[in-house]
Amino acid sequence: MSAAACIFCRIIRGEIPSFKLLETEKIFAFLDIQPLSKGHCLVIPKTHGERLHDVPDDELAELLPAAKKLALATGAVDYNILQNNGSIAHQVVGHVHVHMIPKPNEKEGLTVGWPAKETDMDALKALHENIKAKM
Ligand code: 5GP
Ligand code: ZN
Repeated sequence: MSAAACIFCRIIRGEIPSFKLLETEKIFAFLDIQPLSKGHCLVIPKTHGERLHDVPDDELAELLPAAKKLALATGAVDYNILQNNGSIAHQVVGHVHVHMIPKPNEKEGLTVGWPAKETDMDALKALHENIKAKM
């Protein structure tokens, strides 16, 4: 999707209203319109990029400090920081965003499925070598 049509780019430009919380040269933060819990908010880089690896490092570097500020300002004690990439990974809006989702109790906030697999140590060792060789 182009930056012209992107809903989050339009929020940054002020073409769509939002409950803005933070803005710098590089990032913008606002309340999520369909929160999982009270205080659920989003931090986005100003550069339009669909996935994490599409966004410049200097903008990515501001996302987590902003999420930390928001967690403190909302008074969240327990919370999840979430960033989805790709529709199968639950990304709905195609502009990188970091969720800060307070977890006030078992029912509200993020619920996560965690289908952990048995470990094959040989396969894990081979994977380790493979990934290291590509960085
Ligand atoms: P995703 O599933 O892509 O990680 O999450 C997208 C998030 O953006 C959802 O939590 C959704 O509620 C939020 N969202 C979608 N459209 C708008 C909007 O127009 N304004 C605001 N404030 N949040 C939005
Ligand atoms: Zn965008």
